[in-house]
Amino acid sequence: MTYHVTLIPGDGTGPELVEATRRVLEATGISFQWEIQEAGEEVMAKEGTPLPDRVLDSIKRNGVALKGPITTPIGSGFRSVNVALRHALDLYANVRPARSLPGARTRYEDIDLVIMRENSEDLYAGIEHYVIPGVAAESIKIITRPATERISRFAFDYARKNGRRKVTAVHKANIMKFTDGLFLEVASEVAKDYPDIAFEDRIVDNMCMQLVQKPEIYDVLLCPNLYGDIISDLASGLVGGLGVAPGANIGEGLAVFEPVHGSAPKYAGMNKVNPTATILSGALMLRYLGETQAAQRVEDAVRAVIAEGDQVTYDLKPAADDPTAVGTSQMADAIIAVLRK
Ligand code: NAD
Repeated sequence: MTYHVTLIPGDGTGPELVEATRRVLEATGISFQWEIQEAGEEVMAKEGTPLPDRVLDSIKRNGVALKGPITTPIGSGFRSVNVALRHALDLYANVRPARSLPGARTRYEDIDLVIMRENSEDLYAGIEHYVIPGVAAESIKIITRPATERISRFAFDYARKNGRRKVTAVHKANIMKFTDGLFLEVASEVAKDYPDIAFEDRIVDNMCMQLVQKPEIYDVLLCPNLYGDIISDLASGLVGGLGVAPGANIGEGLAVFEPVHGSAPKYAGMNKVNPTATILSGALMLRYLGETQAAQRVEDAVRAVIAEGDQVTYDLKPAADDPTAVGTSQMADAIIAVLRK
């Protein structure tokens, strides 16, 4: 069987990370037919849009995509391709696991979190405008019952399927009584249908503090879009940084797999950054495709290379300027060598 997968190299360090991941996934022996679709900054210059319809059509056709990060201009310029893609394909669940990797540079052990981020609304709906240009601006935060119910059920179903014990809803309902209040109300209602999974809630600021102090007591974190975005970066910091944090965007019959991190443009073309986050996103894709054994092999190979600590990128060395750090493609080679053993 051959899997047809849309491959979006992305911007900045994206192409080298996606190439490293493609090689690792092929080393599992599974057959892939990659449909390469460029999107992002350069495409904007050539085609007048950073996300042409051909990219969306390809994902709809194949059902799955592996994506490198795409740069979003800050303050002005085109809208985030990443957010637009999630909206266009209604990829409503952003699943971001953060699990300790022995050997990674971090102060914590035994972390096993999954950030479940609502991906379609909240402040990311992108409804904002100037009330008085240059003086006052307004952004509309949208939380709806259907979207909250959908992500809540997704989180609890995920917890059940994956042997998880607890879901914690994250909110700021003390201040945003309508929007976050509705999110908490709906999440609490859905929780009643899952008596086998513990449920609790935390106010987002307290959540951040607790994640720094005692992350090991948390499990699945159910978050509206913005808090999920921020908390998943925080969680990646607990397990070794953005270089090791994978992600999946899931909708009805469609899924796009990408690292949590961005395009890290200052390192573009330098064969320097850590491919782990993108490779582990590829492993999440294998699980989604039902290739559980291959996914496990990839995850085990990544963990073995990181635990060994020799053939790893700068961010996994004891100091960032360690001269023994290897490049993106060399770390992928080491993972492939373990897979082939
Ligand atoms: P970033 O995640 O690209 O990089 C922040 C820092 O994290 C880097 O300078 C680097 O030190 C570290 N880092 C990131 N990836 C790493 C890796 N693989 N290995 C080792 N270290 C790594 O964040 P940013 O600089 O805020 O954003 C750059 C661009 O990426 C922006 O245009 C932003 O909009 C975009 N972005 C895209 C996505 C996406 O495509 N899904 C996500 C986040 C940011």
